[in-house]
Amino acid sequence: EKERTMQSEKLSTAGQLAAGIAHEIRNPLTAINGFMKLLRSSKDKSDQYISIIESELKRIEFIVNELLVLSKPQKNHTSTPLNLMSLIDQVITLMYGQASLKNIEIVTQYPDKPFILIMGVENQLKQVFINLLKNALEAMNHGGMIQVYLQVIDKEVQIRVQDQGYGMTKDQMDALGKPFYTTKDTGTGLGFMITQNIIHNHGGAITVDSILEQGTTFTVSLPMIMIADKENF
Ligand code: ADP
Ligand code: MG
Repeated sequence: EKERTMQSEKLSTAGQLAAGIAHEIRNPLTAINGFMKLLRSSKDKSDQYISIIESELKRIEFIVNELLVLSKPQKNHTSTPLNLMSLIDQVITLMYGQASLKNIEIVTQYPDKPFILIMGVENQLKQVFINLLKNALEAMNHGGMIQVYLQVIDKEVQIRVQDQGYGMTKDQMDALGKPFYTTKDTGTGLGFMITQNIIHNHGGAITVDSILEQGTTFTVSLPMIMIADKENF
């Protein structure tokens, strides 16, 4: 019975995703079609029409790029032992430019024994932390701090990403993970779904806590292989 419920949930997610993709790509295509027609009939406004067409094409490209991340697991899913702390440091370095442009500091807090080994697909796990940090940055419009905590509990490692952004309502938290759910003008609403997908494929879990106007905390748990001082390894 439980198995059956899970199966039908899976199908409806796939169905939701397909319907979402069709819808999200049809909108810019319709716009492009319309402006192409206008372009034929009136040449004087061609610059304006062309720039609208370009931005609609960019939107399609954006959506398709995000979706490609979903298809990657099938292609390249070699799981290897990974040093979680250095993986997170690499991602933070990657986001450093965007953060400093917005006057945001990304602060880390690691355990005393910072050599934490997990099994995982490097690019996918990087994608997880890129998506979480990107959302945190996008939620913060007045500068501030994003804190990344790493904590080991038994055979599990917890990574908390805590921002000081605009936060989420209960309804928004419930809607998280639905394909194409976004509150942003130029959002795709795919990032969190991809994040959740990758974490589940790694035998982990993700939860969210948020207070409106104060900030949001995402907690990722992943199975751990070992923890040590770097020197002992
Ligand atoms: P996108 O970023 O393209 O909107 P996501 O799937 O990454 O899509 O996120 C979905 C929605 O979840 C966002 O539009 C936003 O409303 C909400 N959200 C995600 N992360 C945060 C956060 N750190 N703070 C506030 N809202 C968030
Ligand atoms: Mg996002």
